[in-house]
Amino acid sequence: MMTESRKIVLHFPKKLVDKPIVSRLVKDYGLDFNILKASVTPGEEGLLVMELIGDQRSYDKGLKYLTDVGVKIQSLSQDVVRNEARCTHCGACVTICPSDAFEVEPGTRKVLFDNSKCVVCELCVKACPPRAMELYF
Ligand code: SF4
Ligand code: SF4
Repeated sequence: MMTESRKIVLHFPKKLVDKPIVSRLVKDYGLDFNILKASVTPGEEGLLVMELIGDQRSYDKGLKYLTDVGVKIQSLSQDVVRNEARCTHCGACVTICPSDAFEVEPGTRKVLFDNSKCVVCELCVKACPPRAMELYF
């Protein structure tokens, strides 16, 4: 089973700040987490930046639980762009991308990247040998 590991931002409304919500992710959904930053805003809204780790199904269920209780979830990774100067057109990203955002140009064998097809799964970021694929937050 595929393991998900994502950095997410949780916004807790005032009424949820002192509730044991995150511990339920571990107890009831079998997820792991690392808290990267935690704070309470002046309006007493809680903010938690964390890395959430678990298999895909538990992850989806855990996120659904959070939304159901009223926590607002924001993904940390917003956009993936290619650093054109770094790309060597090796093609490693072409088969790895689940949404076909890369295409080999027939004549030139250059690898073209269509950002509009990208679903920000981050697979190419790890797979690209010269680290040409960059995440923007
Ligand atoms: S894996 Fe990286 S270097 Fe290779 S074609 Fe893709 S973006 Fe370019
Ligand atoms: S982040 Fe995922 S969807 Fe986007 S280009 Fe890379 S592999 Fe494709």
